[in-house]
Amino acid sequence: MKNEKINRPNFIPENTKDWSLETRVSHIGRRTKDDFGFINPSVYHASTVCYQSSEHMRTRDGAYTYGLKATPTMDALTQSLSELEGAAGTCLQPSGLSALVSPLMAVLSQGDHLLMSDSVYQPTRKLCDDMLTKFGVEVEYYDPLIGKNISRLFKHNTKVVFLESPGSQTFEMQDLKSIIKACKEKNIITMMDNTWASPVFYAPLLNGVDISINAGTKYLNGHSDVLIGYVSANEALWPLIEHMNYIQGLHASPDDVYLTLRGMRTMPLRMKQHMESGIYVARWLESREEVTQMLHPALESHPQHHFWKENFCGANGLFSFILNEYSQDAVDHFIDHLEFFGIGFSWGGFESLIVPFDPRPYRTATKWEHKGQAIRIHIGLEDPDDLIRDLEKGLNRLA
Ligand SMILES: *Cc1c(COP(=O)(O)O)cnc(C)c1O
Repeated sequence: MKNEKINRPNFIPENTKDWSLETRVSHIGRRTKDDFGFINPSVYHASTVCYQSSEHMRTRDGAYTYGLKATPTMDALTQSLSELEGAAGTCLQPSGLSALVSPLMAVLSQGDHLLMSDSVYQPTRKLCDDMLTKFGVEVEYYDPLIGKNISRLFKHNTKVVFLESPGSQTFEMQDLKSIIKACKEKNIITMMDNTWASPVFYAPLLNGVDISINAGTKYLNGHSDVLIGYVSANEALWPLIEHMNYIQGLHASPDDVYLTLRGMRTMPLRMKQHMESGIYVARWLESREEVTQMLHPALESHPQHHFWKENFCGANGLFSFILNEYSQDAVDHFIDHLEFFGIGFSWGGFESLIVPFDPRPYRTATKWEHKGQAIRIHIGLEDPDDLIRDLEKGLNRLA
């Protein structure tokens, strides 16, 4: 046994390229033969890895070295995610937010210029304003609808353009193709928070983005019981991302990693249902006179519907809408007595949720002009007709 090489396992079968997504999520991330015939991989709770000898410790290439870096449980998930993302590598984080912090910190240095979408997930904004600027990064917000004119904002020190499409809560769809092309021409790194689409509906790296960021907390895990994030990178950036992730001491718990792997098995199936029910409810809401505007990228009425069609192969169950002008009391009355919609942040679980929001206080590059209350809802896996009946009673309470 002395110095016999123990290599890290491969969790991806051969020829997955010929398989559809549904088939891949069923068969990647497990090694049934090596797990005594059991379908699922076992969960390693681990810190220390013992080497077979001092010499083995010196020449440890290919082996596990420490639980913080990798375990077979982590490999099952990260290899699966790299497969779905078309990435050179993927690292796990304790939350989606931490998956935003880690690559921005890895890539940016003092004096670099960062272009950040004005409709970005709000905590990303706080990360920029309260931390990156403190470290000397120049942060500039841009209109998410800027398209190819992004190049007019490029400076000699522009290092990263950050994308998120649709915009968090407000659902602006970016002209991803033009922005990615403009960045490539100038060797500017693109990062994208792809939580809304997930690799099921858009694969950033396969479309030329350098770093793909995801809150696995949402649809990947899909059951509102885990916080996890991941970062996938291309060949050129993966060594940096992996190293910087390690020295920040980031780690996701083995049980959460396992639950996320379990969530992955049904993610395409769940997302298809979320999409179908979401569009069904959105079309119904669009027909209601209490609603001024729908913000659902898959509806023809969305102003950037064409960018959704051009880039994405689906939509999920999350969208927003604007009400006519009603008093705060009336809006509260609508929301507070819904039977099936929880009032709460996050989304991507099996249950429906609703949150009123107001982007006016934090926008800087663009203005939010809508006067009525903006509301975001997540359509869960309940029967959409039950959800519509619930919303109908709610909208009737507005009057
Ligand atoms: C929820 C969310 C995150 C953060 O994920 P957490 O796991 O809740 O930290 C990041 N980006 C987007 C777009 C999100 O919706």
